[in-house]
Amino acid sequence: MPTINIPILMYHSIESMPRTTIMRSLHVSPKKFKFQMWMLKILGYKGLSLSQLKPYLDGKKYGKVVGITFDDGYLNNLINAAPVLKKYNFTATCYIVSDCIGISNEWDLDNKITQRPLMSESEIKKWISLGMDIGAHTKTHADLTVISNQKAQEEIVDCKIELETKFKVLVNDFCYPFGRFNETILSVTREAGYHSATSMIRGRANEQSSRFMLPRIPINHRTLPHLFLAKILTNYEDKR
Ligand SMILES: [Zn+2]
Repeated sequence: MPTINIPILMYHSIESMPRTTIMRSLHVSPKKFKFQMWMLKILGYKGLSLSQLKPYLDGKKYGKVVGITFDDGYLNNLINAAPVLKKYNFTATCYIVSDCIGISNEWDLDNKITQRPLMSESEIKKWISLGMDIGAHTKTHADLTVISNQKAQEEIVDCKIELETKFKVLVNDFCYPFGRFNETILSVTREAGYHSATSMIRGRANEQSSRFMLPRIPINHRTLPHLFLAKILTNYEDKR
């Protein structure tokens, strides 16, 4: 059986932003997002959350599938992405920062990155009621590699507990803030009971990929249709 490569798409904010926006690449316009999902659909792909993707990564199920992830929990994911995902019967995982529910991406303030509202508790409930998944993205969006092990453990473990308590769902999927991790962080995440952790390592995932270092494919406002297709269908990302 040849290796089956599965793209896991990484999105952040789905919103049109002015040209002057700092780190504009974090935003994909709703129009582009719609087009990308439509393209997946007509190519015969199904977009799946990390939990629904698991049997495919484990080689227990086969099919044309793509993982869809959103980092940070922006309100615009609920408003602009969820209806499109619903329309095509896709699911997705949104990684939530548990201490920042209903606030904004305050961890980006020092870098003057545009503040966007994050989903509130009731908005996350709405996201889940639409059949979407949530994953954990720590308590405060800390860079886990620069804080003490004790603090990192709290960020990883408490986020899971808080989200599971608040939303009464299992939170099995984790995402490293800023894509930063090391051996210690990786084992703490595994021991916390998560089933997977996504990184910012580029490439498509397959059966051989470490479940706690899953590579992803960044999609940003510069990802034009031909590039989007190359990222999904070819080894374009695997070589990066
Ligand atoms: Zn993040």
